[in-house]
Amino acid sequence: MSDQKYSFFGDVEKNFEKAAAFTSWDPGLLEQIKQCNAVYRMHFPVKIGDKLQVIKAYRVQHSHHKTPCKGGIRFAPNVNLDEVMALAALMTFKCAIVNVPFGGAKGGITIDTRQYSAYDLERITRRYTAELIKKNFIGPGVDVPAPDYGTGEKEMSWILDTYSSMRPGEIDALACVTGKPVTQGGVRGRREATGLGVFYGLREICNTEEIMNRLGLPKGVKNKRIVIQGLGNVGYHAAKSFQEGGARIIGIAEYEGAIWNTEGLNVDEVVAHRKQTKSILNFKGANNFEKNGEALEMDCDILIPAALENVINKSNASRIKARIIGEAANGPLSPEADEECLKKGILVVPDMYLNAGGVTVSYFEWLKNLSHVRYGRMEKRFAENLNGQILEQIEELTGKKVNATERDLILRGPDEIDLVRSGLEETMIAATREIMEVWKNNPKIPDMRTAAYVLAIDKVATSYNELGIFP
Ligand code: NAD
Repeated sequence: MSDQKYSFFGDVEKNFEKAAAFTSWDPGLLEQIKQCNAVYRMHFPVKIGDKLQVIKAYRVQHSHHKTPCKGGIRFAPNVNLDEVMALAALMTFKCAIVNVPFGGAKGGITIDTRQYSAYDLERITRRYTAELIKKNFIGPGVDVPAPDYGTGEKEMSWILDTYSSMRPGEIDALACVTGKPVTQGGVRGRREATGLGVFYGLREICNTEEIMNRLGLPKGVKNKRIVIQGLGNVGYHAAKSFQEGGARIIGIAEYEGAIWNTEGLNVDEVVAHRKQTKSILNFKGANNFEKNGEALEMDCDILIPAALENVINKSNASRIKARIIGEAANGPLSPEADEECLKKGILVVPDMYLNAGGVTVSYFEWLKNLSHVRYGRMEKRFAENLNGQILEQIEELTGKKVNATERDLILRGPDEIDLVRSGLEETMIAATREIMEVWKNNPKIPDMRTAAYVLAIDKVATSYNELGIFP
């Protein structure tokens, strides 16, 4: 169903060039920003059962304009160099937009995780880490991986453990990878960060009257009809946040099939049903779609593809009925699909900033690891004491006392999770507004993706200029 001779990196290049035309940077500088700075393709042997298997893997550092480089690691059967290069490039632009001081990178291993035991996956991950260490492609100041499709906290723990055993005594070793479990130096709030960031970004769009008027939709998240593709880390947390915000999840597509109910589906119940039956199909009160691609074509307010790239392309773009597409996955729309959406008046909220919640909170985790102190440890008690003193003064002046529940609420100092969430919320709102500002100031820019690229190019180019390399 995909476009012929599909190249994900080619799509990123096309989008880059489209946006570069709206800037006035030196062509040499633009070329430098576009290219991948370092590409590492590796093959290594791992014994699986009684057979030796040669595993193919990659790490691409797209930009060294700021270091360390940062980007997730993907485990999937179709991982290839073109894909990893594209994802690394998107990371550069993503970090620039949300003001996270990293260059973009990405890694991947070409494996179908369902074919391996946890023990095999651990050995593959550890060997991959050793290969990265050998070539200096990992380290707190060099290149810092994180989870992506097919990986999570477990894999990040194995990476950390391998790195710290091969670099004994390195005081900042914890910062060599992010997305770790909290007990292994992770930060509270990282697990849900990308999905929650998707929600914060789209909520800001829904709260912008001008955009909602243009789309003919009422303001706010409440009662918006949402369709989600992919109920993994990103999709689940985005869906859950929308549900908690009062929206209705009317369609969910997964690997094995898709379901719908215009009255709304309870996300946690769908997850529990899937866990029990190994499928989202036949969920009580919902209808099955014949093909899972049909869910993307449902009549809805917001469609959130949160699985893989190129799922909306030339072959199905004309049938999309959503008013807004929130790109939670990386690269879910091909440039041809982008054009079609533009014609149909669908607002495409681009991946390169909408799913930046993960890297934003990864940045908080990295800072926590380098500072060797948990967020909130220094200020929580101070804030509580200060709030107590202020409340005492107010009560004395007014002669009124607040009740115990109100007192707890007023006195409470910030915990790590509060600080992380408010940092994420602020980042996503500020990025949405900055992109909208660029778009507004240049009405010739056709879509939000191009506006986001213009903003990213300006930031990376400014950073290169500060290095004094280009005329
Ligand atoms: P994940 O592995 O946790 O979940 C992906 C889900 O998509 C799985 O449940 C899988 O079964 C499902 N899926 C696969 N093919 C499908 C299909 N054809 N139709 C419907 N569902 C399908 O991965 P994730 O971490 O949630 O990543 C999803 C996307 O978000 C990827 O594009 C990734 O690059 C992007 N992303 C992830 C993060 C992060 O922090 N995890 C950050 C930024 C971007």
